[in-house]
Amino acid sequence: MSDTTTRDRETVVIIGSGPAGWTAAIYAARAQLDPLVFEGAGSRTMIPGGQLMFTTEVENYPGFREGVTGQDLMMEMRAQAERFGTRIVTEDIVEVDFGQRPFLLRSSRGKEVKADSVIVATGANARWIGVPNEERLAQSGGGVSACAVCDGALPHFRNAVLAVVGGGDSAMEDALYLTKFAREVILIHRRDEFRASKIMVDRALANDKIKVMWNTVVTEVVGDDVITGLKLEDTVTGEARSIEVQGLFVAIGHSPNTAFLNDQVELKENGYVATPGSWRTATSVPGVFAAGDVMDDYFRQAITAAGTGCMAALEAERWLAHGGVEESAGAGVGTAS
Ligand code: NAP
Repeated sequence: MSDTTTRDRETVVIIGSGPAGWTAAIYAARAQLDPLVFEGAGSRTMIPGGQLMFTTEVENYPGFREGVTGQDLMMEMRAQAERFGTRIVTEDIVEVDFGQRPFLLRSSRGKEVKADSVIVATGANARWIGVPNEERLAQSGGGVSACAVCDGALPHFRNAVLAVVGGGDSAMEDALYLTKFAREVILIHRRDEFRASKIMVDRALANDKIKVMWNTVVTEVVGDDVITGLKLEDTVTGEARSIEVQGLFVAIGHSPNTAFLNDQVELKENGYVATPGSWRTATSVPGVFAAGDVMDDYFRQAITAAGTGCMAALEAERWLAHGGVEESAGAGVGTAS
């Protein structure tokens, strides 16, 4: 942790520390913008470094022929940003006032920071199904989790029967990861076809420990102190049934982390930060830019997050160089990398 003194007035504040945040910091630092990053305080479902900290092997980030762990990738990005002088505060930004210039940001420990420009790169957080007992048993550590990589190795799950809900890459990855510890992994999906990439689906289906329940939703988590089972419903026939499991891992996607913006920046209908064009990171507030999973509801990859982080830093640099006059849409970013 390298909490450092903040300046009276910051040029660029970057909120978030996933690939988008660190890439923005690397570019902003190299452009002599002296960026300050709020990397987040960390919670049970989100830690500095973002979602990649919960990922095992990243095989599709270019430059790593043999793959790289999510944690190593994020630690390298952070160190690279620091190497060029990025200052880092291990706190959340909990409140913003974009109505005044410079902008005013308030941190989780009450720090107030004035900033000429802001890059929002706060990513997204795991979603929950929303059925009875799910939240209670997740909060009490009763065998319900949204992070297989964080919790899968706990003694409670050893040699157990575990359920994973979801049909995307996260669900495949979680199910495969959990086979290291579990006796059996039941993959529960609401349709008869996975959304995940073919390579991940093939791997999951080829694993003897993974059993798939198609067209099935969880209607209730069963258990007092710890989970003992699930109530299920067939989405085609409506038939109800129960199964015994010792763990539930929810992998049904993520919601963008925008609550702290308090509606001061325009959001899309699905809650992601709106940016005017698909290749631009400028938000509805001139001087506020967004990058990564907080604005990207389509690609949501580490590499695309890093790409938009780069774009946000270049756009911020350009905007500041123009004296804070918003560029006209479509203008090129003529900065050397
Ligand atoms: P996702 O692709 O949005 O998939 C979410 C899955 O959860 C879908 O199958 C969806 O079902 C299901 N679902 C959503 N709400 C549900 C509910 N209320 N009840 C039951 N099921 C529900 O999310 P993701 O898997 O987290 O992936 C997000 C992005 O990260 C993707 O772009 C993915 O490629 C990427 N990613 C990549 C890797 C990798 O390459 N190793 C690993 C993890 C994630 P439907 O299909 O019916 O909509």
